[in-house]
Amino acid sequence: MTEKPKLGVYICHCGINISATVDVEALTEYALTLPNVKVARHYSYMCSDPGQLLIKNDIKAEGLNRIVVASCSPRMHEPTFRKSIQAAGLNPYFLEMANIREQCSWVHEDRTEATIKAKKLVAAAVAKVRLLEPLEAREVEAERSALIIGAGIAGIQAALDIADAGFKVYLVEKSPSVGGRMAQLDKTFPTLDCSACILTPKMVDSANHPNIELITYAEVEEVKGYIGNFEIKVRKKARYVDFDKCTGCGDCASACRVANRFASEFDEGMGKRSAVYLPFPQAVPAKYTIDPKSCLYLTKGKCGKAPKCAEVCGAGAINFEQTDELVEFKAGAIIVATGFDVFDATGKPEYGYGQYPNVITGLEMERLVSASGPTGGKIKVFNGAEEIVPQEIAFIQCVGSRDKSVGVEYCSRVCCMYTAKQAHLIVDKLPEAKVRVYYMDVRAFGKGFEEFYDRVRREGVRYIRGNPSEIFKRGNKLVIKAEDTLTATPLEDEVDMVVLAVGLKPRSDYRTTMELLRLSQSPDQFFLEAHPKLRPVDTATDGIFLAGCCQGPKDIPDTVAQAKGAASSAMIPLAKGKVTIGAQVATVFEATCRGCGFCVSICPYSAIELVTVNRMGHMIEVARVNEALCKGCGSCSAGCLSDSIQPKSFRDRQILPQIAALGVLR
Ligand code: SF4
Ligand code: SF4
Ligand code: SF4
Repeated sequence: MTEKPKLGVYICHCGINISATVDVEALTEYALTLPNVKVARHYSYMCSDPGQLLIKNDIKAEGLNRIVVASCSPRMHEPTFRKSIQAAGLNPYFLEMANIREQCSWVHEDRTEATIKAKKLVAAAVAKVRLLEPLEAREVEAERSALIIGAGIAGIQAALDIADAGFKVYLVEKSPSVGGRMAQLDKTFPTLDCSACILTPKMVDSANHPNIELITYAEVEEVKGYIGNFEIKVRKKARYVDFDKCTGCGDCASACRVANRFASEFDEGMGKRSAVYLPFPQAVPAKYTIDPKSCLYLTKGKCGKAPKCAEVCGAGAINFEQTDELVEFKAGAIIVATGFDVFDATGKPEYGYGQYPNVITGLEMERLVSASGPTGGKIKVFNGAEEIVPQEIAFIQCVGSRDKSVGVEYCSRVCCMYTAKQAHLIVDKLPEAKVRVYYMDVRAFGKGFEEFYDRVRREGVRYIRGNPSEIFKRGNKLVIKAEDTLTATPLEDEVDMVVLAVGLKPRSDYRTTMELLRLSQSPDQFFLEAHPKLRPVDTATDGIFLAGCCQGPKDIPDTVAQAKGAASSAMIPLAKGKVTIGAQVATVFEATCRGCGFCVSICPYSAIELVTVNRMGHMIEVARVNEALCKGCGSCSAGCLSDSIQPKSFRDRQILPQIAALGVLR
C-alpha cells in the first residue's frame, strides 16, 4: 500500500446485544490508540441508515481509506458495509469486521473480560485492514435456463414458475412419470382435496409447456461449471418403447407374457404390473416402459417365439435395440427437488411389519383408500390367508420419527396430520369401524390443522397417549401392547389392522446427488440450506437451490411455497443474464508451485486444476484456480506444502499480523 492508511473504527451496540456486556465507550477510546486509527465511534445500530451514514460521512470528511466495523458476524452484514463504503468511494474490500457479538458479547458474561476480548478482536482487525489489497468482483454471462432435478410437486411447481417467466427449463425425472409422492396420495389434509385432481393438471402443464423440456426416466450424470454456466450431462435410460410412436393404448401390458406379475412401485407393492407398464393411469408422459429387470426378453433373451408386446403393438413402438442416450445442455441455475423416502418399518421389528400382512404403513394405507389403488378404494387386508374388512383399526404415530433408537431424532411433520386424515377416511368408508391412534403428542401446527384434528376426534376417533412397545398375534387378532400414559394404565388392545405412521427419510440415493452437486447435509442427512432463516432455499454452492423434502420433511403447502421460493431465487441470474463472481478467491504463485496436485484433491468445490505451462523452456504442471468456482475457503492454502496458493484477503502476510495482534493488549 503506497497511500498512508487512515482508519475508521465503528463500534456497534447492537441495541444492548453488545453494549450490555462490552464497554463500548472504553472500546472506542482504546481503538483511538491503535496505529493509523483516525476516527473511532460507537453507535446503537451501525447497520441502520444513520449508522452507515456516519461511516460514509467520515470517509469523505476525514479522508479515511480503511474501515473496521466491530459488530456482528460478517455473514450478517459484511455485504451491507461493503456497499456503504463503496458508495463513499472506497474499494469495497477495504473493510474488516471484528465480530464482537457472536464471538464475544453473546458467549461471555463478565463485562471486564468481554471488553478485553473485544479490544483484542478490534486490534486484530485493525492490524489486518491496513494490509488489504483492492479487489474487484467480475461479471460473467449467465445461461438463461434452469435444470430442475426431480419432478414431484416441488420440481413441477418450480419448473412451471420459471417457464412462465419466459425461461427454458430442463425438468429431469428419474422414474417414467412425473408426479412423485403426491401422485400416490388419495386426499390431502386438512382440506381433503383429491390429490390427483389438483396435481394432474400441473403434471400435464409441465409436459405441455413450450418452455419446459421434460426428460423422464433419466438421471443427471455429470454437473460441471458454476452459477450461470453449469454444463450438464443427463442419461436417458432406454425405455425399449419408442417414445414418439407409443400411443399409450396399453395393449402391450395386457398381452405381456408376464402380465401383472410384478409388484407395482406406485401401489407400494400392493398391486401388480406387467414387465411393460405405465406406472399409474394418469402418468405423464402416458408412454409405456419395459422394465429391464422383469422383461423375459431382456433378462433371458427369449419371450415365447417372439416378444408378445411387439406382436400386439399396432404402433410398432416396441424397440429392443434402444440404448441409453446422453443429453448435454447448459443451465444458469439448478434446483434440487429430489424428494424423500419413507422410513422402512422393518427397522421397528417389534411392530411386526413384514411379518403380519395386516400391519401396513401409512403410504400403503394411502394406496388402499385411493379409488385408483389396488382395491379400488376398498379397505381390506389379508389376515393370514383370509381377506377381511377390518373393524378395529389402530394407528401408531412417530414410527421412524423422534426415535433415537432408530437414529431419527427429528419430527417428520406430516405423520400426525396424515394419520388424522386417514382415520377420517376410514370412518367415512367404514362407519362401523372403531379407530384409535397411539401418539406421543399431536403436532397440529399448520393452517386448519388443529380444527381438522378436533373434527376427527368428534367423528369418534380415539386418541390414546402412549408409545406401543410390541405387536403380537393372538388368534386372528393383532394385540398392541402399550401404556396409556395419561392414566398410567398398561393395556393390550386387540385389533384387525395396524397402520404405522412412518416418517420421512432422506432418499436412499442422497449420497450420489450430494457428490454430484457438492451439497452439504445437516445432521439429519437432509440437504443443508445456506442459512436456516435468511437463505432457506440456497445451498453453499452459488446457483444451486433446494425445494421440497430433500431439504427436510414438509407438507404439500410448505413444499409448494419453498418451490416457489427456489424458483424465484434461481431466476435472479437468469433474469440478469450475468452473475458476479466473488473477488476473495485463491491465487496460485506459479513460480513456487510444484504441481503436486495436493490442492486439487483438497478443494471441496473442485475449483482447482493442473495446467501445463512453459517455465523457462520446461513444460511443467502448475495449479490453476477457476475463480468462478472458488469460494475462498482456504482449504487449499492450509494444505499446500510450498505456500503457493492463498486466497486474496487471507494471505499469510495479511492474517499473520492479525493473529499476532490478538496477543497484544496495550
Ligand atoms: Fe412382456 Fe415379453 Fe414384451 Fe418382455 S418381451 S415386455 S416379457 S411381452
Ligand atoms: Fe501442490 Fe501447492 Fe501447487 Fe497445489 S499450489 S499443486 S498444493 S504446490
Ligand atoms: Fe478451493 Fe477453497 Fe482453495 Fe478456493 S480457497 S480453490 S474453494 S480450496
